[in-house]
Amino acid sequence: MDGMHYEGMVIRPPSEANSIILQVTVGCSHNKCSFCGTYKGERFRFKDERIIDADIRYAAQNLSFLRRVFLADGDVLIMPQPKLRWILNRIREDLPWIQRVGLYGNAKSILRKSSEELQELRSLGLGIVYLGLESGDPQVLREIHKGAGAERMIEAGRRIRAAGIKLSVTVLLGIAGRERSLTHARATGEVLSAMDPNYVGALTLMILPNTQLGDKVKRGEFELMEPMELLAELGEMLRHTHLSQGLFLANHASNYLPLKVRMPAGKDEALALFDEALGGRVRLKPEWLRAL
Ligand code: SF4
Repeated sequence: MDGMHYEGMVIRPPSEANSIILQVTVGCSHNKCSFCGTYKGERFRFKDERIIDADIRYAAQNLSFLRRVFLADGDVLIMPQPKLRWILNRIREDLPWIQRVGLYGNAKSILRKSSEELQELRSLGLGIVYLGLESGDPQVLREIHKGAGAERMIEAGRRIRAAGIKLSVTVLLGIAGRERSLTHARATGEVLSAMDPNYVGALTLMILPNTQLGDKVKRGEFELMEPMELLAELGEMLRHTHLSQGLFLANHASNYLPLKVRMPAGKDEALALFDEALGGRVRLKPEWLRAL
């Protein structure tokens, strides 16, 4: 065997850096978000089961030092239940030491599954779902063509939690532009509070040239925000986010102020840090360190 079979660009959440990346779909079933260029030009499809099977056997022989599996690409949860069941069972058979399987899901794919189906996936090893919320502001969600409004996002997030699966939600700083920044921050905090995820990852928007948003920037229709404005947005979002228990992370390479807040205990201290940073008393990451 000659290694894992990867096609196209394979991405994974930062927290899955030490996972076996098993690519079971190619592309993203939605593929319409205005800021995303990851799978442009890629037609979404399920990979052949023989290839998946060969990759699981390869991982069994060569990657037994890794404890987690991440199923790529975008939105693997859209797979029909029998296919997902088969994949999770194959992982259990050949990689019995695996402690957690993770994947990306969007609101549509989550809501297409019944509670029983999600619980079944949980019992077969699915331990975490990564959901891209980006914003809780209905206007922003429409503008970026996310494919779901705030209510559906909340319902989807709650479904995952109710099935006993961990939920990690990504939000985007700067996605609303300058004028709507604080509205976006508050609405996003409110939606996060309603979902009550285990993890929140706040990333800073990076403009990619091959996207609709990239074109808007070129035409002067979308304004990029300054580091201090992004920081104020992040602070406002955190202020409006109430989690019963979880981690709020803004430590991705694209963020200016690395932050890891254990909620709810660490929130006040973090907000105080924001006030200091906004007052210019904490150094921000210089621009050249920001490259991904
Ligand atoms: S759902 Fe995710 S991968 Fe798909 S287009 Fe949107 S941001 Fe990109």
